[in-house]
Amino acid sequence: MTKLSIVVPCFNEEGNVGLLYEAVVASLSHIIEDTEIIFINDGSTDGTWKALKELSEKSPYRVKAVNFSRNFGKEAALLAGFRESTGAYTAVIDADMQQNPKYIADMVKILDEHPEYDAVAAYQEKRKESKILSAFKGAFYKLINHMADVKFVSAASDFRLLRRVVVDAILSMPERCRFSKGIFAWVGFETYYMPYTVERRATGKSKWSFRKLFSYAVDGILAFSVKPLVLSSVLGFLFCLLAIVMMLWIVIKTLIFGDPVPGYPTLASLILLLSGVQLFSIGILGEYMAKNYTENKARPVYIVKEISTSEKEDQV
Ligand code: UDP
Ligand code: MG
Repeated sequence: MTKLSIVVPCFNEEGNVGLLYEAVVASLSHIIEDTEIIFINDGSTDGTWKALKELSEKSPYRVKAVNFSRNFGKEAALLAGFRESTGAYTAVIDADMQQNPKYIADMVKILDEHPEYDAVAAYQEKRKESKILSAFKGAFYKLINHMADVKFVSAASDFRLLRRVVVDAILSMPERCRFSKGIFAWVGFETYYMPYTVERRATGKSKWSFRKLFSYAVDGILAFSVKPLVLSSVLGFLFCLLAIVMMLWIVIKTLIFGDPVPGYPTLASLILLLSGVQLFSIGILGEYMAKNYTENKARPVYIVKEISTSEKEDQV
């Protein structure tokens, strides 16, 4: 049985895939014969597929390159990689060299020596990003840990090594909205958290804009918590209470002071506030309905156009 499968999602990484391949071969030379590298080309618009195809055709080691019919997102690429992986251990690593493959060797060692752990997750000791982004990420983890039933670890990345049981557990989850941080947390198992240092991207630029990260965060909350739905009931209840208090206050005021109610500004702001709350609640409902709709259509998470394998991988 293969010892190690390495899953690499690639989206416009033509300058990096070769570097990553070389680095993997160099840092895992002791088990390279027992290792397969699975590249997923997630609908790149540059020369990534050409580079991957060439790599897989020429490599003396076990290399598989999967080509998607378009860009389906990193989560879809990870799922495809897990489905293709055959190893006793499966590693997930970015294609951009921010995560040095030398750490995979350390992760393998940890799982070899500690049967009590089922997964190793690398986390950044020092985040190399702007203060504002860090603050937003901190707020997101506070919020999602408050709302979801499973625990999300804030500094942990997708850079991981998983035992076969964990990969099988992840593959048993049929959902289409795949938020991997939540999925890793949801399946459970004992995870060893290993510190690592993030490096600079070798070439190209990050695909995660602030807007993309924000909608990814919303997706994560929707996929792993239904508490936002409770929010509307709570708000509704609070506003009912407030309305009763206000009505009493108006009656008492009129009885005691006898002056007519000068209510126009109050009314206008109340109407605005309450219609805002109502629309917000309907919005939350809509988000869950939309997710339900996507899940119910049960479309495949991705479409594979072509798979290219090295000779060695073919033989197994
Ligand atoms: N990626 C992908 N599909 C996408 C976006 C990104 O497969 O739609 C891959 C990308 O090629 C890289 C990894 O996911 O290997 C992480 O992406 P990126 O480096 O842009 O994210 P960052 O490191 O900035 O969080
Ligand atoms: Mg990156």
